[in-house]
This record gives sequence, C-alpha cells and structure tokens, in this order.
Amino acid sequence: MSKKISVIGSGLGGLSAAIRLAVSEHDVTVYEKNSAAGGKARSISQSGFRFDTGPSLLTMPFVIEELFRFAGEDPPEYLTIRKLENLCRYFYPDGTILNAWPDLNRFAAEIESKTTDSKESLQKYLDYCKTIYDLTADIFLFSDLYSASTYTNTKALKTLFKLPKIDSMRTMNEANRSFFKDERIIQLFNRYATYNGSDPYQCPATLNIISHVEYSIGGYYLEGGMFSLTKALFALAEKKGVKFRFNTPVTSIVTEGTEVTGIQTADGFIKSDIVISNADVYSTYGKLLGDNKTRAAKKYSRLEPSSSALVFYMGVEIDSKNLEAHSILFSADYKKEFDELFTKKILPSDPTIYIYISSKFSPGDAPKGMENWFVMINAPNSSGTTGKEHLSIDSTRNVIFEKIKAVTGYDIAGKIRYESVMTPADIEEQTGSWKGSIYGISSNNCKAAFLRQANKSRHYRGLYFAGGSAHPGGGIPLVILSGKLAAELVAKQK
Ligand SMILES: Cc1cc2nc3c(=O)[nH]c(=O)nc-3n(C[C@H](O)[C@H](O)[C@H](O)COP(=O)(O)OP(=O)(O)OC[C@H]3O[C@@H](n4cnc5c(N)ncnc54)[C@H](O)[C@@H]3O)c2cc1C
Repeated sequence: MSKKISVIGSGLGGLSAAIRLAVSEHDVTVYEKNSAAGGKARSISQSGFRFDTGPSLLTMPFVIEELFRFAGEDPPEYLTIRKLENLCRYFYPDGTILNAWPDLNRFAAEIESKTTDSKESLQKYLDYCKTIYDLTADIFLFSDLYSASTYTNTKALKTLFKLPKIDSMRTMNEANRSFFKDERIIQLFNRYATYNGSDPYQCPATLNIISHVEYSIGGYYLEGGMFSLTKALFALAEKKGVKFRFNTPVTSIVTEGTEVTGIQTADGFIKSDIVISNADVYSTYGKLLGDNKTRAAKKYSRLEPSSSALVFYMGVEIDSKNLEAHSILFSADYKKEFDELFTKKILPSDPTIYIYISSKFSPGDAPKGMENWFVMINAPNSSGTTGKEHLSIDSTRNVIFEKIKAVTGYDIAGKIRYESVMTPADIEEQTGSWKGSIYGISSNNCKAAFLRQANKSRHYRGLYFAGGSAHPGGGIPLVILSGKLAAELVAKQK
C-alpha cells in the first residue's frame, strides 16, 4: 500500500532512500533546509572556478550503479564514472614522492624502488585486507546489522567462526606495522583511518578493509566532478516522482506516544505515515524529537563524532605539473598529528595536506591557465560556539602555504584569484552535522560498528534513519547503502 513519506534532508543518503521509496510507489517528499540538494556534496561556482564542497574521491561505484538499475535506469545516461590513473601522489617530508598506481604491479615496483618495503609485503597486506572485506562486508555494510536474519546465513556464520581474522583487537597502526617496516608505507596505509574520520592509533585494524576497497576495487572520479552525483541523483529522484521542498527546515518530528505522525515545518504540520531522517542522528534526537531520555538518544549523545575538516577553496593561476588530481603532503609526525586532532582537539601544528584539483580532469572547472585547488586538512570536531574562535585559521593558512612551497616548489600565495574557506562550524551550520563531523561517529573503538544508529528506530514506530551518522556509516557508498537499508526496512513495516 502506498504510504505518505517525509524525508528530512537531501544529502546523498536522503536522496538514495527517497528514490527507492518512490520507485516502490510511495508518495515521497523531501524537506531540505538549504536552497539546493546535496548536503555535504554540493558545489561552489565563483569567479569562473567550480569546486566540490566535500567529497572528492569515489569508491565502490557499483553501489551507485545498483541504485540507478533498481530505478530501471542506465547509470551511464546520468553519470560518467572513470577509474583514476593515479590514486594519489604522496609527498613525504624527506623528499620522497610516491605514486599510488592502481595497477598493483606498478605500485609494488614503486614501493620497491623508493622504500625499504617489498612487493611481497604489499601483496600479503592486500590479501589480508581482502580477507577482512570478504568476512565483514555482507554483515557490516550491506545488511541491516540489527535483524536476526543477517546472522543466519552461511556467510555470516563463517564470519562468526573466523572472528579473529577481522583483526578487531589491535589498532590499524599496530597491524600495519606488522606488515611493513618502512615508516612511509605505514603512514600511507594508516591514512585510510581518515576515510571515516578516525584515528589509526586508536581504531581497530578491521578498518584496513578500506585499503582493499581503494586498491583492489579502485578509486574513481566523475566527469564534471563529484557534484555530478548530486545532480544525477536529484534528476533521478524527480523523474521517479519525488517532490522537493527547499528552504524548508523541519523543526520537529511529531509523535503521539511512540508513534510518528508527521513533521512540523514553518508551513505547518505535515501528516506522514513514515519519516526518514537524513539529518544527523544527534540533532534528530535532540532538536527534532526533543528526546534526551530514551536509551538510543542517551547512547548516541555519549559517542565521539568523527573528525571534521578545514577546507580552503582556492582558484590558483598555476599549471601544477607536479601534482595529480589527488595529492597528499604528509606531516613529519603522524602520531602527534592525531594526538592534536583527537586528544588535544586543536588544529595540527604540522598538518597533512590534501590537495584535490578537479580541473585536471574537468577543464571547465577553472578558467584557462588556472586550477581549482581544494586544500583540506583534518580538523578536530568543533565543540566551540562558532568553532572559529579556537581555530587559528590564518596561521594555519600560512603553515599550509609554507609547506606547499617547501614540498612541491609551488609558491601560491601571490597567485590566488579566488578564495573561500569552510570550517567545522560551517559544516555544522550548512549540513546540521554534530560538531561539524564529516563521517558521523568515529570508529575509534572496536564496538563502533554496533553503536551506530540502526536504520529503523526501535523506540519510535514509523521513524527511519538514512545518512552518514546512521548504519553503516559515512562516505558516499555507505550513505547510499544507508538509504537502501532504510527503504528496505520500510517495505517490511506492516
Ligand atoms: C570536506 C569533506 C570531504 C569528504 N570527502 C569524501 C570523499 O572523498 N569520499 C567520500 O566517499 N566521502 C567523503 N566525505 C563524506 C561524504 O560527503 C558524506 O558521508 C556524505 O555526503 C553525507 O551524506 P548524508 O546522506 O549523511 O547527508 P548530509 O550530506 O549530511 O546532508 C544532510 C542534509 O540534511 C539537511 N538537513 C539537516 N537537518 C535538517 C532539517 N532539520 N530540516 C531540513 N533539512 C535538514 C542538511 O541541510 C543536508 O542537506 C567528505 C565530507 C566532507 C565534508
């Protein structure tokens, strides 16, 4: 039977859920506080430059393709997904430059010629990462973690029997040290903890699954930049009959007892059979439900949000032949950097700098002779009132310029033709993310996978969650899966 469904938020997880529910013949409306769709995955166009605001690297593209096929559409008609020729160029403080070629023989040869590690160590490591993926993906990514049926198939039983192999009892850093001896390679693979906003010196080695995803499944870009995904999902949603109300913040989720009856916006009460919250779980409980009492609300408020980011969008008059579309300039002391981020909660004194230049593959993203630099460092999740006071952005900007000059030889300070910045407080303000976290809650302990909000509320009948702070977590493929799991659970509600 067709249900009236309100989706709060048009982030990628909200769009994924809305599309599936509309395809299943429900009457779906998305309420978005901003003037356009996308949440963290939006776009800035200024002075001839275009920037992706948040995500820049696509992994597990099959998750997106499956969504289009579910809707009866051919993905290439909406999106051009291409494999990166170089996953990332890594610059180290000692002058080493390492290319993460997606061709593993070539990457292994690069490691052998420039570091003290070997082809065999790489192969052994990637086999180990694949084992973790094979054992965990079905349960922890593709299924509803909270349904008994998830644990009663052969694959799940295999995982339960082989639990030690998912390597949850040591940290990512400890595991990586057991495979490699060269500090530069350990740092390279430790970096994957940041793909879900965690600390490699605290998070379980199970997260080495991310290295498998990037090196064995691949790293991808979208023609036209990552915002093409938002545009494509929005177009698909409209085609399938999803209605959108922009500039319409939802002020509360209305309940009678524990039954959800609708949502409240400035335009009044909107009766709904089902509400899907794509808003951050923390604000769904605290602001939208006014709930600080139920077990789930209390549990969530005790969790640690993932790290945040400080991003400079810089239009630069340069032809940076030394840089790739994705480049990393590593810090000299990675442990200290994560202590500053997660323990001291300050901007790193010597940050690892990530530079993403989409105009290298989408020339329309910058005027001729120029490039669009997305310069990002990891930042602590912000607990300040605006987040700006305790972050010395100007001095960090100078540190970044000096480091780019020292490591790559490019002195960009006088070459900037457009610039804006996004702080953790801006992320919180623009997307509603708790403390500006970019991947929901951190996975800094081995229970994190089980602590994330389930896609269906146990307490409020009719309330579902889709997005980076719910199961299975943050990052593009996972939030698309989150929308899928929420929609599948709606289908099961009597
Ligand atoms: C700087 C940065 C870099 C990143 N890099 C990558 C990357 O390279 N690869 C990758 O895979 N992922 C990356 N991510 C993570 C990825 O962008 C997110 O996991 C994903 O986009 C989040 O989607 P979501 O569905 O959780 O919704 P969000 O993007 O969080 O959107 C939620 C939406 O809900 C709306 N909303 C909230 N409250 C209300 C309300 N009360 N009423 C109405 N609307 C409301 C918000 O306005 C927003 O539009 C990055 C993120 C950031 C910020």
